[in-house]
Amino acid sequence: MNKCAIAIDGPSGAGKSTISKLLAKELGFTYVDTGAIYRTVGVYVKRMGVNPKDAAQVEKLLPQINIEIAHRDGVQRLFLNGDDVTDEIREHVISAYASDVSAIPAVRAFLLDMQREFARRDNVIMDGRDIGTVVLPDAKIKIFLTATDEDRAHRRYDELILKGQSVSFETVLSDMRARDKQDSSRSVAPLAAAEDAVTVDTTGNTLEESVKLLKNIIKERMNG
Ligand code: C5P
Repeated sequence: MNKCAIAIDGPSGAGKSTISKLLAKELGFTYVDTGAIYRTVGVYVKRMGVNPKDAAQVEKLLPQINIEIAHRDGVQRLFLNGDDVTDEIREHVISAYASDVSAIPAVRAFLLDMQREFARRDNVIMDGRDIGTVVLPDAKIKIFLTATDEDRAHRRYDELILKGQSVSFETVLSDMRARDKQDSSRSVAPLAAAEDAVTVDTTGNTLEESVKLLKNIIKERMNG
């Protein structure tokens, strides 16, 4: 039977992962957070002391990287060469590593099939930057989630503080802007809405409001 895929793209802090997780639970779909996979590559590059912008050096490391993803009680856990890095990938410093390595074409090619395999096996809600445009261009439903810079930075800041990381709001905002710029301007698979995506602006919404909005879009499109 053909599997159903829902692609959710957008910049960081727009609420992609929180909303996608909730929707996946309700629909009984598997949630795949593709940013976590790029973050895992970032962790390895950092551990090896390699400059994440050095494409040639990063490419040399790829054959040494084995990434496994397990879904346990609805939580996606990431393993890097057998090591559980689920918490480490969320450290603020890893965000920049992930953004840097994700601009390298060899890294994107290395991770492409792993992401597609999920959609071959299960009904998925997959979130990222290029899911509707590159990874799953045939996804039944595509949503591009966005919000103002300040709104997104506030969400990211609150998440980091809740996890006990010490970082200022100004740092989160300026790092996020730098990362968005890099993600949107890279030559391969830049952050962009697919032509057939529905754009949803979550600025000022509560989580419940955004979930409701997306549920309606999904319902409409599934029946359409
Ligand atoms: O979504 P998250 O903020 O965890 O993603 C970390 C980084 O991984 C992003 O800044 C982006 O550079 C990269 N990424 C990507 N393509 C995806 C998902 C994430 O390039 N599909």
